[in-house]
Amino acid sequence: MEVNQSHSAIKCGAKFIEEYDGPSAHTQPYDVLKRIFAHGSRQDGSNDEAVVFTWQDLADDADALDEGKRLKRNIKKAIVRLDEHQDKLNEIATEYNLKYRPVIVQLETGGGSGNLSRYKVQPVIADTKSVVKASEVPEGYIRYSLENIKKHNRLARLINGFDATGLKFHALTGTVLVAIILGTIISIAGLFSLTAQTSVFGLLSTLLNTSLALGALFVAFSPLYLCITNRIIVAPTILVPSNLHTLQLEYSPTDKKRADGSTVREFRIVSYVSKCSICGDRVEVENGLGAMRGRLVGRCNASPREHVFTFDHITRLGAPIFSEYQEICATSLRN
Ligand SMILES: [Zn+2]
Repeated sequence: MEVNQSHSAIKCGAKFIEEYDGPSAHTQPYDVLKRIFAHGSRQDGSNDEAVVFTWQDLADDADALDEGKRLKRNIKKAIVRLDEHQDKLNEIATEYNLKYRPVIVQLETGGGSGNLSRYKVQPVIADTKSVVKASEVPEGYIRYSLENIKKHNRLARLINGFDATGLKFHALTGTVLVAIILGTIISIAGLFSLTAQTSVFGLLSTLLNTSLALGALFVAFSPLYLCITNRIIVAPTILVPSNLHTLQLEYSPTDKKRADGSTVREFRIVSYVSKCSICGDRVEVENGLGAMRGRLVGRCNASPREHVFTFDHITRLGAPIFSEYQEICATSLRN
C-alpha cells in the first residue's frame, strides 16, 4: 500500500471531525472518532501500513474503570456514524486535495477471550468528481450537499437502494407497463359506460369513478415513471418522515454494469440542502413554480418566494434565479 493512501484517509477523517458541527457533534461516538484520527495521526508516517487500533489505544483514565466497556460500544457506533457521512468526507477530500477517505472496519480476531478486537482505518478512493471546491463556487451561487436522513419509514427503506438489475429490472419496467395498460383500459371502459348512461346521476358517478381509478393509478405510479425519466424528483409525501420537510427521490448510477455495458441505476432517497447565499438560512429543494415549472429549485426557509436558486444534482450548484439578487450577492461578498 502507498504510504499516501493511509495518510490521506487519516487527514480526511481528522479534518471532518474538526469541521463537523451537526446536531450530534458533541456526542460520544464523535468523540471516539476524534480519538481514532488523533491516534491515526500519531501512528501515521511510522510505517506504510494502514492504521490499526484496539480500544486500549484510544482509552483515557475513565475507560480503564469499566475495562473499556463503554468505549467498545461507542467504537461500534462511531463506525456507523462515519459511514453515514460519506458525502461530507468526499467534500472534505475535494477541499483539501485528498484522494482517499477513511472507512473503519473491524478485523477478524482469533478466538479466545484474551484477544482484543482490532479495528483498521481503511482508505477508500474519495469521489471528488461531483463536488466543486468552496473557493471555486461562483459568486452568489450556492453549493448543495447531501444531508443524512436519520430514520427512513418502512416504505422508504424498501425503495432506498433498490437497483434495477435482472429480474428486478423486468419487474420494474413490467410494473410501469402494466400501470399504463391498466390506465388505458380504465379510460376506455369509462368512456364506454359513459355513453351507456342515461341519467345525470349515472353519468356523474361513472365520471367520478373513472377519474378516481385513474387518479389512484397516477398517484401510485407516476413518481416511479417521472423519477426514471428525470433522474431526480421531489419524493412523494408518503416517503418523507414526519420530522422532515422535503426529500428527493433520485435514480442514480451505481458502479455496477449490465451485460450490455449500460450502467445500473438505483433508487435513492436523499436530501439535498444548502445555505442561502443571500441571508444564510437553510435552502431545501422543492418543485419550481411559474417560469420554473417542471424544474427543481432550492428555496430559502427565511424568504421562500425571493431567495430561490436553480438546482442541479450533478454539479450541485445553484444560481439565484432573480437577477437583482445576483447583484446583492456580489456586493455583500465584496464588503
Ligand atoms: Zn435566504
